[in-house]
Amino acid sequence: MKGYYIYTYGCQMNVHETEKLAGILQDRGYELVDNVENADVVVFNTCCIRESAEQKIMGNIGAIKPIKKNKKDMIVAVCGCMAQQKDMASNLRKKFPFVDIVFGANNIEFFGEYLDTYLEQKKFLNKVESDKQYTENIAGVNYVRDNPLYAYVNIMYGCNNFCTYCIVPYVRGREKSRAPEDIYREVKTLIDMGYKVITLLGQNVNSYGLDGNTDGVNFANLLKNIANFDGNFELRFMTSHPKDLSDEVIEVMASNDKISKSLHLPVQAGSNKVLKAMNRSYTKEAYLTLIDKIKTAMPSITLSTDIIVGFPGESDEEYQETVDLIKKVQYHNAFIFMYSKRKGTIAEKMENQVPIATKRERIHNLLEIQHEISEQLFNKMVGTTQRVLIDSENEKGYVAKAQCGKVVKLTKDAKLKIGEFYDVEITDYKKGNLIGNAKL
Ligand code: SF4
Repeated sequence: MKGYYIYTYGCQMNVHETEKLAGILQDRGYELVDNVENADVVVFNTCCIRESAEQKIMGNIGAIKPIKKNKKDMIVAVCGCMAQQKDMASNLRKKFPFVDIVFGANNIEFFGEYLDTYLEQKKFLNKVESDKQYTENIAGVNYVRDNPLYAYVNIMYGCNNFCTYCIVPYVRGREKSRAPEDIYREVKTLIDMGYKVITLLGQNVNSYGLDGNTDGVNFANLLKNIANFDGNFELRFMTSHPKDLSDEVIEVMASNDKISKSLHLPVQAGSNKVLKAMNRSYTKEAYLTLIDKIKTAMPSITLSTDIIVGFPGESDEEYQETVDLIKKVQYHNAFIFMYSKRKGTIAEKMENQVPIATKRERIHNLLEIQHEISEQLFNKMVGTTQRVLIDSENEKGYVAKAQCGKVVKLTKDAKLKIGEFYDVEITDYKKGNLIGNAKL
């Protein structure tokens, strides 16, 4: 038995690509092992969104050295966004001579061929291709999905937005939309296989089709067409960019029960001066108008967002505008980060970098405020009816997920089926979980 072990870092895109890597290895007779020392192939699927992420990965790769010393035939491969960076492949080879294969973020599906070539030649393989665009070569790649109910489906790759703090456009390339019929085929197969929650993935899903590769199918069309498929499933998508979220998408979301009434809409900051410096291409006012439209169309919508505090030049007053904004929007959840310099981005070279002490103060303050808001909003769900998917069962009862991703606990009063949707009356909110009874 040949074993494999994959380290996955970063976003849902990477999680989904690891599912692809695992499928490629399993097709070659490798089996997942739970201890890296028992692996014959070790893959690091990397992220470079923050400097700290990169340092952690370098530490993990270094830790393989003594293991490989005792297991000479072990193959070590590094791929993903960190590996895609300029000169990274040669830097990795210099720093870790035991690394055998390096490939990027845009050619994951070719890993099988790279592995075959390495096994033949036993020579270091640098397969990072700078301007490689994604090709639709995933036909036949079987994804190894951890969860039998939840599935990710890529609809596009890359990003054209160049937010000044972000490295993604430099490592994932320009936006490229997958052909709609390939997406439809993949989603239909997943529904037939019994998957219940399909999440459409892209760095900026709302610009689907803007590259002219989809015969005029835009994101709203794609959503609507998939929501019209037969089958009992829920459709989600991430990540949205506020500048491209159209009235048409809001209308399609509101008028299709299969489309989850939860939306992740990163705002990043509440000050127009900071938003401009971030190159986010919208103003606070435009963002709030969009939120109003969404809430008017879907009053029960649950919202989440991403926020960066301490962006270069952010004053106390501008930080306060972020505080005011989250109080105004009322997010059920917010992923809040301190700005961290990222080599190769425009913001890295900006003046007026905010001192770490100030960043820490702001993030603690904002996390507290957001926690308060979340608790109030989830408490307000008591007495409402939520559509949930039963994920699992234990001696105490059933564990389910609501559309907003919140865990819902149900007793065993009624016999429920794992993998089925139920309308649940929420009776309580305790220790971060919603409690409820199925309406049968
Ligand atoms: S939209 Fe901005 S933050 Fe998101 S991936 Fe693109 S450049 Fe990065």
